Amino acid sequence: MKKLTFRTVLRMISSFMIFFLTIGFAVSCCMMLFLNVIAETMGLEFTAENIAAAAKITLVNVLIITAIFTWIDYIRRRMTVDRPVRIITEAAEKIMKGDLSVRIKPMQGAATEGFNRIITAVNSMTEELSGIETLRTDFISNVSHEMKTPLAVMQNYGTLLQSPELSDEKRIEYAKGVTDASRRLADMMTNILKLNRLENQTIFPQKAVFDLGEQLCESLLQYESIWEKSDIEIETEIEDDVKVEADAELLSLVWNNLFSNAFKFTGEGGKVRVSLTTDGHYAVVSVSDTGCGMTPEVGAHIFEKFYQGDTSRATQGNGLGLALVKRVVDIMQGEIGVESAVGKGTTFTVKIEKV
Ligand code: ADP
Repeated sequence: MKKLTFRTVLRMISSFMIFFLTIGFAVSCCMMLFLNVIAETMGLEFTAENIAAAAKITLVNVLIITAIFTWIDYIRRRMTVDRPVRIITEAAEKIMKGDLSVRIKPMQGAATEGFNRIITAVNSMTEELSGIETLRTDFISNVSHEMKTPLAVMQNYGTLLQSPELSDEKRIEYAKGVTDASRRLADMMTNILKLNRLENQTIFPQKAVFDLGEQLCESLLQYESIWEKSDIEIETEIEDDVKVEADAELLSLVWNNLFSNAFKFTGEGGKVRVSLTTDGHYAVVSVSDTGCGMTPEVGAHIFEKFYQGDTSRATQGNGLGLALVKRVVDIMQGEIGVESAVGKGTTFTVKIEKV
């Protein structure tokens, strides 16, 4: 049993007073009515002593009934208000200390409906918070892990470069190793920053109307040296005059990532096909390749941050490209889909509203 505090005693006294006045008033009115009716119908006359004796008995009765009511009210409050408030407060204190595993059991009883609504809200809040916390810790460990690889490469090449008898050829090779690794690190940082800004919505899309076909051709041309070097055949089917209203810089991130993946995962002599068509109010872009393809298991995770299905090409990326693509397409309220078959190739299809 909880100790009676000064506040509880004060609350009990105030409830006692309220009950006393209410019951006293109700009983006095009833008594007076009752006595009046009896006196009139039976022709009785009450003396001052009769009335004084009845008043004393009535006062005692009122006091006893008030005490019983006050006690019942105290117990009711403890069960239906104090207990749920205590349970919710204790849970909130644990959450404040960082324990996000806290879940409060819903309460039984008709009078607890309001508290159960608070409990459901607190439970959903902690669930959401623990999801975010897991993502944050996963993100930090992924970033740290991804940073370690290029840093280790740079360290190794740096050590090798310190050797005094180094041929020019080796020196250039090692210096190139350092440059490549630092570029990878810089690319990763740029992607992380972009993703972070996109997720926190601190980038506000600068919308303008432009020709989507032209943008696709410009993006694709950046890979000319790669497709020529790898002898990859290019096929394009671009519908004329398809205009979109979007942030051109953000949208070019989508094409650059899809094209760079298509070339990265397509071997020598393969083929990459880019098409732009329209479907009602939508512009539909598809990027297909005849590369290595992916299994359905890999396909299910490709839009997750830092996910890399093909680890043999891990050094050429950091698993952030498609996460960025997805985020941009989501911001533009578009859709992205992928179809792939191992050994046959992959097709990414992006659908965005056209003007
Ligand atoms: P990465 O930097 O590793 O390319 P992405 O987010 O761009 O990261 O891609 C994630 C994974 O999706 C890749 O590691 C690869 O397994 C798979 N993937 C993406 N595009 C293709 C493609 N065109 N063909 C085969 N697999 C692909």
